[in-house]
Amino acid sequence: MGLVRWLMSGLLMLVVNSALALTPPDIANLQLQDLKPWFPEATTLAQDIGQPGYRLVYNNGEVQGAVFYSHQITPIPAYSGKPIVTLIAMDTRAAIIGLKIVQHEEPILVVGVKESDLNRFTDQYINLFALDKVRVDASNRPGYVGIDGISSATITAMVLNRSIMASAKKVAIALSWPSQAATMSATIPIALSEADRWKQRLEPWLDQLPTIIILVSALGLLLAILFFQDWLVRKPKLFNTLRIFYLLFTVIFIGYIFSAQLSIVNMLAFIQTLSHGFTWDTLMLDPAMFLIWSFMAASILLWGRGVFCGWLCPFGAIQELIHKAAQKLNLPSFEFPSMIHERLWAIKYFILIALVGISLDSFSTAAAMAEVEPFKTVITMKFSREWGYVTYAIALLVISIFNSKFFCKYLCALGAGLSILGRFRIFDWMRRRNECGKPCQACASLCQNGAIKPTGEIIDNECHFCLDCQVAYWNEHVCPPLVEKRKRREKRERAHNQTVPVKIIESSQDS
Ligand code: SF4
Ligand code: SF4
Repeated sequence: MGLVRWLMSGLLMLVVNSALALTPPDIANLQLQDLKPWFPEATTLAQDIGQPGYRLVYNNGEVQGAVFYSHQITPIPAYSGKPIVTLIAMDTRAAIIGLKIVQHEEPILVVGVKESDLNRFTDQYINLFALDKVRVDASNRPGYVGIDGISSATITAMVLNRSIMASAKKVAIALSWPSQAATMSATIPIALSEADRWKQRLEPWLDQLPTIIILVSALGLLLAILFFQDWLVRKPKLFNTLRIFYLLFTVIFIGYIFSAQLSIVNMLAFIQTLSHGFTWDTLMLDPAMFLIWSFMAASILLWGRGVFCGWLCPFGAIQELIHKAAQKLNLPSFEFPSMIHERLWAIKYFILIALVGISLDSFSTAAAMAEVEPFKTVITMKFSREWGYVTYAIALLVISIFNSKFFCKYLCALGAGLSILGRFRIFDWMRRRNECGKPCQACASLCQNGAIKPTGEIIDNECHFCLDCQVAYWNEHVCPPLVEKRKRREKRERAHNQTVPVKIIESSQDS
């Protein structure tokens, strides 16, 4: 009975969420009493809706200001693929005097950002003018008003800023508030040209040039590693050192400094964006994320999901580094028997299917459930969260001491999604021998991901492109067929070295 009630309430929640998601508020339905905090003396809210989508507020026939919803004027999709709905009140000086986030499906705002942080962010707009150039985290840029972003929700803050200021500007220009806005009506078209939109999109790229240079160089290095992999893996010391440094770079720079940890939420948001009409605006707001996202897409097409999971995912890198350190300390490790291991794989695909299904109904519910990923706790919020999330994340990291990449192998919905996309990859640069699996199991036992079948084939869906098996492939002290060859060669050389002196002695006696 309890379970039925639980399921019913869950279903009801989904229906309510879905209904809310389907009905963003309309300025036509706004009531005067909703505006009292901002216009306490207002007597009338005009019935007419002025273009581009505002209503005037009066006090006994005198205009006091205007109100409008940002999503009806500048519907910029945020992380969730949908605009954040903000109610904005502006007085006749074109100063913002009130602002309230009314509806959103932003994952980071649903779970992660405190109400007080959000209010602190929106409060910064009070008394700013519609014609001000407002930038998030750009306090020292001349000509701009800098405001603080929302910690761990940079993109959401940028989208909010753009939609608030763009809609306020459009309304101010339409109403000629203040008088200089009238001149700007004349000179600035309400709708931006395509060239202006690209200029606007590239603004954060100019601000973050050092980040872009570092990241592009690192991605270039990774490309070089992939192209010269056959040469590099024959030098195990060099390759292993390079790999450790790369993983450290991924954790420190991609994860903690650039905050570019991709998540299943990005994938779900991308699906939403496609279904609501694709736009570059949100994707290009965060250059680091855009570069990682683009490189991942290209590498999946060329090599499969392994390049991202093995080299560019900060949480994957943390787990691998922890396991490597544990091995150096001779801590025990365990692997599930292959039959159980292969069945456990399925869990991540079930999680993926569930999240995609739920996101079609309610993105915010899916985002809350995507907390099965510990990325937000470990990387985005650096463990500063409620104890439940922190305990879960730490438990996964502790398990990775004994079982490498446990989370990746069995629970990661993003990894599962990438595996599906990776089925269409073009290159197969992994080398195998006839003896692999028949009977040799050396690589299979080396592979921390359990991505080599007992029959010797590499399971592309599960391979993280760590190249450990390729190091073994070329190592004549590890790869049994090469070990055999080496032993035969050494035997021949020993025999040769023993016969040569005898021949020399014999020939000297003859003479
Ligand atoms: S499986 Fe998930 S956590 Fe692991 S490396 Fe891939 S994306 Fe990252
Ligand atoms: S050892 Fe080989 S098969 Fe296993 S994950 Fe690494 S590259 Fe892939």
